[in-house]
This record gives sequence, structure tokens and C-alpha cells, in this order.
Amino acid sequence: MAQGTKRWTDMLHEFHGELAPKLETAMQEQHEKAKGDPSPYACPECSRQLEYRLGRSGRFLSCSGFNEKIVEQPAAPKTTAKGKKRKPPKPKEVPACSFAMPVDRDGKPRLPEQIDLLSPAGVPMVKRTGRFGDFLVEDKPRPPKPKGRKPADGPAELPPFILNLDKNLKFPSPPPLVTDIACPKCGELMNLREGKRGPWLGCRAFPKCRGREAFAKLPDAKKKDLEKELADHMRGQTKLSLTRRDGVTPVIEGTPLKDLQIEGGVAELSLFQ
Ligand SMILES: [Zn+2]
Ligand SMILES: [Zn+2]
Repeated sequence: MAQGTKRWTDMLHEFHGELAPKLETAMQEQHEKAKGDPSPYACPECSRQLEYRLGRSGRFLSCSGFNEKIVEQPAAPKTTAKGKKRKPPKPKEVPACSFAMPVDRDGKPRLPEQIDLLSPAGVPMVKRTGRFGDFLVEDKPRPPKPKGRKPADGPAELPPFILNLDKNLKFPSPPPLVTDIACPKCGELMNLREGKRGPWLGCRAFPKCRGREAFAKLPDAKKKDLEKELADHMRGQTKLSLTRRDGVTPVIEGTPLKDLQIEGGVAELSLFQ
């Protein structure tokens, strides 16, 4: 740094200005390359070859038909109440096929495993692997959106029903009872939950605050009131009742996942020839 008068921010700007175009080209090239990497798999919807593309959350498999545009003529114009004809809509260019699916680190397609369980809405559940391990989710298609694709208009869909797993089936815990007791650590109100060893108090700001309070140390009258309130609160909760795919056989919390596996429940993509 010979010119001692120059401020470091100016230097940084100059440096970045010089480098940025080069970086952009490098990234573009990388993207283009990843975009068209052929995969050994065939598209299960149209039999075209699947290719690896780079999305915001990494590589994924995408149908090569996504780059082939077909012209779609929207429905014929309807006449208005006054009998006037509306302008015919312009034909649209749409991808020939927009099948896509996630892959694991080795580029193997991550196919969901069919599980013998129905969600409360009656949708078959499948096992998927996420950033935090395996979980069960309703079997609805949720392909990653390739770049440049507009989000579909329409009513917002409900988030899919999800169950966490730890080898055995885990039901979501019911919402806690909010008490008027202040957290000793941060002053936020505390939650009361039913535990294996009786009711317990935890800060509402969890996980930001891990404040706890010993329920047993509360004055007897307060304990009694809260116990009654908690019992009423729990009675008001609808308990989750799930069944197998037959819609009749109940599945209880703690059921080992292996008891819910379906023979041949993992499909495989056929190879592209
Ligand atoms: Zn396809
Ligand atoms: Zn707290």
C-alpha cells in the first residue's frame, strides 16, 4: 500500500470492480456446465434423459425436456355478457416437461420411501431425508423450481403434514399452557407442559432462552391451580389419531418405523437408453 492517503474502502472498491466481471464469468460457466450434465436416468414422466442442474440448494435432477419449449394455445376466448368477443389470448411457450427431483451427494436420486401410514387428511405418507435427517411427509409432489420459472398463481396451499422420526414414530407435542409466571432468566412468560415426571415450566422464548423453573417449588395453592388449568388445557386438545393406508388399522405413537415399511416401497428410476 504505497499510497498511504488512499482509504481502505476505496481500495476495496477498486479491487472488487476489477475482479467482479471475472468472477461472474467463472460462475456463469460453471452454471452452464452443471445445467446440462447428462444423468444415466430417464424421466419417469416422458422418458427423455434427465440431467443434473444446479439450483439454489445444490444439484438436482431435471428433465431435459425443460429446455424444449412447446407452444401452448390457451383456451378459446369467452364472450362477455354483452356478446362482445374478448381478445384471443397469446400462445404461451412452456417447457415440454418440468419433472425434477432432489439427489443425494453422489448424484443418486432421492426417491421417497412409501410408508404404511395415512396423514390426518388421508394422504399416504412417505419417508424423505432432509438436512436434519429422516422425516415422514405427505406424498405430494414438491419439485425444486428451476430458475426463471414463475411461481404458480392460485390459493396458498397448506403446508404438508410432517412427522419427525427417531427410529420410532414421534407425534407432535400439543401446544403448552402459557402461565403468568415470569422466566427467572429473561422475564418472558413461562410455558407449562406435561412431562413424564409431572408438569414442568420452561421459558416461552425457548430456544433463545433456556430458563426453567421448578414446578415443585411453587406455593401449593398455585400448583393446584396450574395443575387444574393444565388438565383442562390438555382435555381440549384433539389427539392425533393415525391409521395405516387401509384407513382402519390404528397406528400409535412409538410404533417402530420398520413396522410401517412397505415391501418394494422404494422405487427406482429406470435408466436412459
Ligand atoms: Zn420429462
Ligand atoms: Zn427466559
